[in-house]
Amino acid sequence: MSNSIVKHVRASLHDLKPYIPGKPIADVQRELGLDDVIKLASNENPVGPSPKAQAAIQAALTDLHRYPDGGQVVLKSELAKHLGVSEDMFLIGNGSDEVISFLCATFVEPGEEIVVPSPSFSEYKFASTVMAGKTVEVPLREGFEYNLDDFAEAITEHTRIVFLCSPNNPTGTYIRHSDLEKFLEKIPSDILVVIDEAYNEYVEAPDYAQGLEFLKQGYNVAVMRTFSKLYALASLRVGYTIAKSEIVSFVNRVREPFNVNHLAQVAAIAALHDEEHIALSRRVNSEGKQALYKGFSSLGLRYIPTETNFILVDTGVNSKELFQSLLKKGVIIRDGGFFGLPTWIRVSIGLPEENERFLAALKESVSELSAKV
Ligand SMILES: *Cc1c(COP(=O)(O)O)cnc(C)c1O
Repeated sequence: MSNSIVKHVRASLHDLKPYIPGKPIADVQRELGLDDVIKLASNENPVGPSPKAQAAIQAALTDLHRYPDGGQVVLKSELAKHLGVSEDMFLIGNGSDEVISFLCATFVEPGEEIVVPSPSFSEYKFASTVMAGKTVEVPLREGFEYNLDDFAEAITEHTRIVFLCSPNNPTGTYIRHSDLEKFLEKIPSDILVVIDEAYNEYVEAPDYAQGLEFLKQGYNVAVMRTFSKLYALASLRVGYTIAKSEIVSFVNRVREPFNVNHLAQVAAIAALHDEEHIALSRRVNSEGKQALYKGFSSLGLRYIPTETNFILVDTGVNSKELFQSLLKKGVIIRDGGFFGLPTWIRVSIGLPEENERFLAALKESVSELSAKV
């Protein structure tokens, strides 16, 4: 009986590869019998959530019997003031993952195409595949640098969305202002360029292209941001896109009415204004970045300079084996094999003591694994 139903599963779902999330700390503790485990695998903010966000949640607990504000009015209004754009240009999602799905559900008909960088965040392809769309992958160049001419060449009459991730996950590389300007000038005006800026708040490079500036100038750009990274609310799931209000009004049609819960909304508003938490998070990341760079250099390992809170590093050994070896030492990182980079790992920048412990474990594991060969 079940067979007859299975044959009606939409064809595109057979092509779907499930997302493999970073391994949770509790799993590693249980499976390996370890107490002291550190997770540097999911680009979470190691500082922890803003105390102001925590207080806002406490205060909101008595309202749990009410539906959340489906229009997300206060959050949108605070974001609008913060970023200098009008409220009707915001669409808030249950994480920016959900926003990616909304964008594909709005624009991708079966057989139509999205263009994405490679390696990059896997959710673009996932969302397009669900809609039976095709994904055209454009390899990044030497050093995982963007060359936007390659993206312009990949555009066809079937292209609906170009997803640019800047700074890019998992490489940490970014798009320069002058390059984005040239690219937007020459591509057809009926293509939506989505710039995923999940790590925007960590960027230090002065020539980084802010998508918002180009959206304000009238280009067909949709900017995506999230509260999961610098704002440290990954568990609550709040992300958003900023786009022309006409586009937002269509994307809004595929959104469930209560997709962002009340605790997430109040916490996001509080985190947005917690300057102390933001400054501390940036400082910890910036100092941790330098400590890890130094550690990699002294181990003779090549790393890619990053504008984010993670670093891609070539360990020279099999990254799957390295992942397991580090796991046994209570350190969770991301194996580059997932991104088609079988000797690389992606490590999130942690607290000073976490970075030190990771570097010590890395040194041991790499020398164990290279001795084996
Ligand atoms: C982490 C991440 C996101 C996901 O953000 P959520 O708001 O937690 O869904 C989106 N894009 C990129 C590139 C990311 O690395």
